Formats: sequence, C-alpha cells, structure tokens
Amino acid sequence: MFARSILGARRLALAAPPRLSAPPGLGLTLTLARGFTTSPPRLTPRIPSRFPPSFFRSHAFAQSRPTPRRAKWTYARYGLVSPTFAHKHPWLASVLRLFLAVMVGSSVLLLIVLIHDASTYSQKHIDRVPVNPLALSPRRGGPKNLPIIEVNIDDKESDEKARCEGKPRLIILGGGWGAVSILKTLPPTAYNVTLIAPDNYFCFTPLLPSACVGTVEPRSLVEPLRRLVARVHGHFLQGAAVDICMSERLLEVEVPTEDGPMRAYVPYDKLVIAVGSRSNDHGVKGLEHCFQLKTIPDAQAIRRQIMMNLETASLPTTTPEQRKHLLSFVVCGGGPTGVEFAAELSDMLNEDVLAYYPKILKGDMTVTIIQSRDHILNTYSEKISDYAEKHFQREEIDVVTNARVNEVTPKSVRITIKEKDGSIREAELPASIVLWSTGIAMQPFTRQMVELLPNQFHSKAVQVDAYLRVEGAPKGSIYAIGDAATIHLNMLSDLLLIWEQFDENRDDKLTYDEWALMAEHIKKKYPLTSDYLAQIRDVFREFDTDGRGHLSLNQVADMFIKMSSKATALPATAQVASQQGEYLGHMFGRLARQRKTLQANDIDNLDDEAYYHPFKYRNLGTLAYIGNSAAFDIGGYGSAGGLLAMYAWRSVYWSMQVSMRTRFMLMLDWVKRGLFGRDLSKF
Ligand SMILES: Cc1cc2nc3c(=O)[nH]c(=O)nc-3n(C[C@H](O)[C@H](O)[C@H](O)COP(=O)(O)OP(=O)(O)OC[C@H]3O[C@@H](n4cnc5c(N)ncnc54)[C@H](O)[C@@H]3O)c2cc1C
Repeated sequence: MFARSILGARRLALAAPPRLSAPPGLGLTLTLARGFTTSPPRLTPRIPSRFPPSFFRSHAFAQSRPTPRRAKWTYARYGLVSPTFAHKHPWLASVLRLFLAVMVGSSVLLLIVLIHDASTYSQKHIDRVPVNPLALSPRRGGPKNLPIIEVNIDDKESDEKARCEGKPRLIILGGGWGAVSILKTLPPTAYNVTLIAPDNYFCFTPLLPSACVGTVEPRSLVEPLRRLVARVHGHFLQGAAVDICMSERLLEVEVPTEDGPMRAYVPYDKLVIAVGSRSNDHGVKGLEHCFQLKTIPDAQAIRRQIMMNLETASLPTTTPEQRKHLLSFVVCGGGPTGVEFAAELSDMLNEDVLAYYPKILKGDMTVTIIQSRDHILNTYSEKISDYAEKHFQREEIDVVTNARVNEVTPKSVRITIKEKDGSIREAELPASIVLWSTGIAMQPFTRQMVELLPNQFHSKAVQVDAYLRVEGAPKGSIYAIGDAATIHLNMLSDLLLIWEQFDENRDDKLTYDEWALMAEHIKKKYPLTSDYLAQIRDVFREFDTDGRGHLSLNQVADMFIKMSSKATALPATAQVASQQGEYLGHMFGRLARQRKTLQANDIDNLDDEAYYHPFKYRNLGTLAYIGNSAAFDIGGYGSAGGLLAMYAWRSVYWSMQVSMRTRFMLMLDWVKRGLFGRDLSKF
C-alpha cells in the first residue's frame, strides 16, 4: 500500500510542469548547507495541490512556497532532508528521516530519564519523628506472658497512618498471592493493616522454574512487600506465626532479633491466614536428598547445583560413569511445576550448554519425570497431556508414568512401576539432582491451628465456609485463603430447610419443576455449585436412580454430598488464591464503609452473610510451559502450540506481574536471553 502510494506520487510528479530543482546528486549536500541559511531557494510545486503534505511524500513539501521563517520549520518538520533529495531517493530519505526521528526521540528520552534520575537524589531532613512509647517497650501479657505488639513504631509518622490508628486491626499472614491481592483491593486507611511474613518480598511462583536455569533472574520475580503494604498505609512485620490464642485474639509470632529469634503476640480483630502450603512428602524416605521448588532460595540452590554439576562433568578428571551420574536429573511429580522445570532444564541443556560446554556432555544427559498417574499434566485436558508427552519424547525427556517413588538415596531414586498388564516392577534410576514436586501439605502453623479447632478434618488445608471463614473459629474473626484453605460446604445441614421450602405440595417427592426452582436457589446460596448445576436436567437424571421421574429426600441427600465435594475441589493455584484475596479485600471494604452506620446502631459484629455474597470462583484457564511451546486449558478446551503459544504464555505472565518494576525487569531478562543466552555463571 505504502509503496504503491509513493510510486503514484512519483508518476504524478513526472507529469507535472517543469520546475526548478537542484542538480542531481546535490540533494544531501544542499540539505546540510540549507540548515545554516535563512532563505532556502524557492521551489515550484511538483505535485497537484490536492495531495496533502505527508511525512513520507516529500513532493508535497514544495507546493507550499514557504517564507524563509516557515521554511526552517518545514525543514525541521520534514526531517532535515531536502525535497530534491527526497524526490530522487524516496526510500533513502524515509530511512534518513526515521533515523533522525529515532535519534531525536532517544535523546529526548535520555534527557528526561537523566533529569528524573537527578531529581531522585534529594536529601530529606527529618527533625522529629513522633513515636508511641508503647511501641518502644511493649507491655507483656497473654497466656505465655510475651511482649504484645499493640502499636508499631511507624504508627504516627504520616497523616494516613495516624488515620488508621484505632481502626480494626487486620492482620494478614503471608506475603504470597492471596495476601497481595487483599492489599491490592482493600480500600486504603479502612483498617489498621499489618502484614506478617518470614520474607519481606512477594515471589511470582509460576516463573520459579525459569529462575532455576537462568532464563529469568530471581530479582525479576520478587516485589518488596513494604511497597505493596504502603498502598493501604499498613505495617510490615518480618516473622512467622507459630501459635494462636483465639479467646484473647492474640497471634503468637516468632520474629528475628540480634540475639536470635524471639516470640511476641500480635493482637487482631480480623486475621487472614494466607500462609500457603509446603511440599507433601507422602512418607517417602530420603527426601533430604531432594530439592524443592517453592521459594527463591530453592531456585537459587537448584541453579547453583546444576552449574556445579556441569562444571564438574566437564573436567578431564571426571570418569565417564561419574559424568553420566552428574548429568542425570530426575523430577518426581508430573504436575505443572515438575513439567515446567523439566522443560526449562531441557531448553537450557540444548541451547546454552551445547554452545559453551564440551559437546560430549550432551550424550550423557538424562532428564526423567516420574508420574504416579497414567499421564503427565493430568489435571489438564487429554489433548494437552498427549501434546506434552509427544513433545517431551522429541526433546528426549523420559516420562515414566504409573510409577511411585519409594525412596530417594544420595545417588538414585527407587521406584515401583505398574505396567500396562497390571504387573508391578521395581526400578532404580541414577540421579544426581532430584526435584520433589508431588502435591501440597499444611504449613506447621496451619496444622497447629486446626488441632485447636473442632470440625476440622481435612488433611491438607484448613476448612473454611463459603465466606472463607475458618470453620470452628469465632465467626467473623479468622479467614483462610489460597493453598492454606479448602472450602467445605456443609450443604447437608441445610437439607431439611431447603427440602421443606421446595417440596411445595408436601408429598415427599421432588418433581423436576420443583427441582429446577431448588437448583436456582442452591446456585444463589452456594455459588461454587453453579458449574456442577450447569445442566440441571442431567443432575436430576443422575440421582433419579429408579427412573420414577421424581427425587426422594435420600436421593437429594446423596446429591448434596456429591455436589459439596465437587464444588469445593478448587486447585491449589495462584489464580484461586488471588481471587480469594480479592474477594476478602472487597468484603472487608464493604464492611468498613458501613462502619459508621453500624456504630450508630451499636452493632459490634455484623455477620458477613448479612452484607456480602459467598465466594465464587471463576476459572480463567490454566497454562503450562512445555519447552519452547506452551499449553492452555481454558474452560475445559485445551490447546497447545509452539513458539506463538510460548509468547502468549509469556504475555499472560507478564500482565500478571504485581508491579511495573518487575514487568520491566522480566522483559529485559527475556530480551537478554534472546541476545546473549542464559547466564551460566555459578555463585
Ligand atoms: C514452582 C511453582 C510454580 C507454580 N506455577 C503456578 C502457575 O503457573 N499457575 C498457578 O496458578 N499457580 C502456580 N503455582 C501455585 C501457586 O504458586 C500457589 O497456588 C500460590 O502461591 C498460593 O498462594 P498463597 O497466597 O496461598 O500462598 P503463597 O503464595 O505460597 O504464599 C505463602 C506466604 O506465606 C508465608 N508464610 C509461610 N509460613 C508462614 C507463617 N507461619 N507465618 C507467616 N507467613 C508465612 C510465605 O513466606 C509466603 O510469603 C506454582 C507454585 C510453584 C511452587
């Protein structure tokens, strides 16, 4: 199109009447010379006036017969390239203009950056910082007579923080996905917020496998929690919760001091437990020989060990057997984390190691994934599992399915494999680096807390109700979200009430029409069941086991049990944790907005059910990186593809970053990898 318009303009210019023009070849010289003169030579119009001046069609420049002053501006506007030159070499002129525009643009940008940078080196003088004396020597109390951190040393240092004093104390435990999304949605100054976490940064976990091999740098995945807490004018305490006294609403935390860790109480009005999970050991022996991948130090330790093995394997003093062993990598667990780690490792071995290490290493490298189910990525659609397995076959990554790990030794992994014919066989895989990534278990604090509560019988997480309140804890005081929580819908306790409401003719039978009304009511009361109840006729048929066209009370009870378990089986993902955090942020915000009305009416503790709706999960799809390609599972429809899918995968994760800073750093890392390869240095 563009080329055609230029040619068209040239043709018209040739047809135009004779005109004054510079001798051939003098275009550029004239341009430079004219830059210093005040009156450029007049030029006759070269194209009919109906053609508007445009940046690329320099012919249009001539038609305006500029006055000397105007001409200067016009030259500047047209990129300091003379019309004659532009006419003779339109493409070259365009390139020159583009080059000049880029140069001017970059200089302006650089100048702005420099001015901004200079303005950041300011010195602030602070004369007196008001501090509450109670913050400097806290009183002791509680069941263990520990110091009670009632006020913080930065409580009074800004107007906004001072405004939060005296507001209900909201304590958020953890600095991961769930906690951060509360901070992002909570109205500022609505609560006196304190965030407690052992590390002072948020970690973007989905890209940890990339950090293990240097595709991205660990610092690009973290955001200081203090920056995030500042949004709500809250406080950050570095420490870990170890116990809780619910009757006095005191949380026991272990904080670091110069003389080692010490314990203190933090009082709360509302407590949110977002402490995540730890790896499930499934009772397997020898896990101390494995790496885990949950945190930044985990990723750094794995990267260090991989580099060390590669260097040792490259030494002439290493025997072939030792080399083979050093280069054997085993991943226990074929879920997204295990698969992504294996894919990243294989990418690195194929792309960077082959380029800079002795090529003999390639033949000795093995990457093996051990999966207990019959497919890897078994929570994704079948199409994606198949794609991933075929892709790994091409990449020479071994996938051992239907296999369970019995023991991990310093040099091997012992497994039991169930063959297709049902026979069982034992095998021992040589392994130098083993990653353990086989599901989740409760954090020690969460376990400690559920032991104090009645009605808690889940083995992997704290049971919460549809409003994310911890079951058994005083209502409206303790909530749990993310990996630490599992929703338990006690629908059976409502059965009789619902039955009486919808069995309108009291004949102890629920017809399809009555069931349709009941289903609508259930969807409203328990939004998590809406997916299960998407096809209400199918559900009716499933439980009308005797085919009589109506349901009995027992059949509805069976249906409620199944519905409760299906509706609440949410995956342990960042997506769930974020949505739950967002939900609590909005819910607490709504409560805060009604505070004045409640106080005026002497209402201390409003039930969440009275002013907010239950939590509803929206599945936005899942992603997995499978080695220079990616898989998407959106609403049950799976798709997997090559580089384009990988760029889409990157875009999604890029947009999910919690700050522009990490977005910028991540982008630089990806560009750096493309230009220079992964960083193979070992620290
Ligand atoms: C390698 C890896 C890759 C993943 N990839 C994906 C993915 O691609 N997509 C996806 O959706 N999910 C992914 N996940 C899962 C996702 O990271 C988790 O589901 C999510 O982090 C759970 O969020 P959370 O807020 O519950 O806990 P976390 O994000 O784990 O945060 C827990 C926080 O609690 C803190 N904490 C722990 N103990 C205590 C204590 N006693 N007191 C105070 N604080 C404590 C921790 O330091 C941490 O800050 C991945 C996980 C890993 C490990």
